[in-house]
Amino acid sequence: MKRSFGIVGGGIVGCATALFLKRAGHDVTVFERVETPRAVGAGLVLQPSGLGVLEKLGLREALEARGAKLRVVRCLGDGGRQIMALRYPQPYDHGLGIHRGILFETLYHAVLDAGIEYRPGHEALGIEQNGDIVFRTQNRERFTESRPTWIIANGAKSRLRNVFPVDLMRKNDWGALWTVVPDEAFGRSDVLEQRVRENEIFLGLLPIGDSPDGPGNHTSVFWSLPLDALKRWRERGVGVWVSEVAKIDERAAELLRFVHDDDPPILAKYRDVVMKRFVHQRGASTMIFVGDAAHAMSPQLGNGTNLGLLDAECLVENLDDLKNFERIRKKQVRAYGFTSRMLTPMFQGHSHVLSMFRDLAVPFAQNVWPFSSVLSQMMRGDFLLEREPEPSLRQRQVRGTTRRA
Ligand SMILES: Cc1cc2nc3c(=O)[nH]c(=O)nc-3n(C[C@H](O)[C@H](O)[C@H](O)COP(=O)(O)OP(=O)(O)OC[C@H]3O[C@@H](n4cnc5c(N)ncnc54)[C@H](O)[C@@H]3O)c2cc1C
Repeated sequence: MKRSFGIVGGGIVGCATALFLKRAGHDVTVFERVETPRAVGAGLVLQPSGLGVLEKLGLREALEARGAKLRVVRCLGDGGRQIMALRYPQPYDHGLGIHRGILFETLYHAVLDAGIEYRPGHEALGIEQNGDIVFRTQNRERFTESRPTWIIANGAKSRLRNVFPVDLMRKNDWGALWTVVPDEAFGRSDVLEQRVRENEIFLGLLPIGDSPDGPGNHTSVFWSLPLDALKRWRERGVGVWVSEVAKIDERAAELLRFVHDDDPPILAKYRDVVMKRFVHQRGASTMIFVGDAAHAMSPQLGNGTNLGLLDAECLVENLDDLKNFERIRKKQVRAYGFTSRMLTPMFQGHSHVLSMFRDLAVPFAQNVWPFSSVLSQMMRGDFLLEREPEPSLRQRQVRGTTRRA
């Protein structure tokens, strides 16, 4: 039966949900705060689980052509000592480093091509008792809209959560500086490289392939820092940052020669959000929270986008059984949220004990079953995932079975 949905937030998860709903034959309107949607941001990793969802939307191939296929995630400590080298095992043989803007742009254009109504310049201000949502347009006009079902996909800072119970909502004391730089040599290599010193310094080099401006090889560089030190960093300027980076990794410092004070790196802040429930009844409307609006977390596990894409897919498969949607998604995202809260202080904090523990525990865990299996599943985004494998994986599994036979 054809139903009518309103989606608040036309970002990655909002667009993916809109596409799945439209394909299932429903009416969808997306309300997005930003007046001119554009490809912005730095790099992110799409894990095999998220790539599977994008494959179902028919977008995987186009994205893979523009990103960098990752086969190894490596973390090096003092003096280049290897703490971790996780390889994507067969048949899930790669993740994808990609510019966030390219992922958004691809989904956004697919939404427009599908004829979905996407209304930019519409900011949701709140939810009325009867389930209507109050919007403000770019001309500062206010109006209310009603829909039998609202999907709330407006990200980690969502204020629409305020009228519903949450188990945890906490801003992280640490953030990261991100920038994207041209890198002909390694910008499409297959290793995500991380360097740590104790837990106070955390540098990452993520190959991402193209930038939204065009083809070429690029690397997304991130550098973690405590938020209370941010003002000091800003005052000292980009040059001082680059010399700090050079003490850890010459190659990264060389890449950062492209970064200047008039085009400084982006500061990303994180927050942890655990909602009690993702599905609520308010007046005549059902409200369903997905993506970061439902379960934001620090990006230590590199899975926020993947979890949101899995929400979109699972929601549309369970529209007639929202309890099942909530059960399936809660199980997985709570495990990721918990692990992310446990791991983050080992990579971003001031405790030497925790960093020593990390340097002993991670090499042990990656070599000893069942910890090795859990680590690998956590990275791939399919830990505690209840879902059919994506079509290409099914084919590869069938081919593998045939070959073995
Ligand atoms: C530094 C950093 C690195 C990350 N790296 C990774 C990674 O490697 N892999 C990974 O999987 N994830 C990563 N993530 C997480 C990932 O970026 C998020 O999980 C993902 O973007 C969530 O998508 P979303 O659509 O739920 O929210 P968002 O991307 O935040 O989109 C929300 C949308 O809602 C709109 N909006 C907001 N408020 C309103 C309103 N009131 N009314 C209407 N519209 C509104 C916004 O403009 C936006 O378009 C990272 C995050 C950060 C900060």
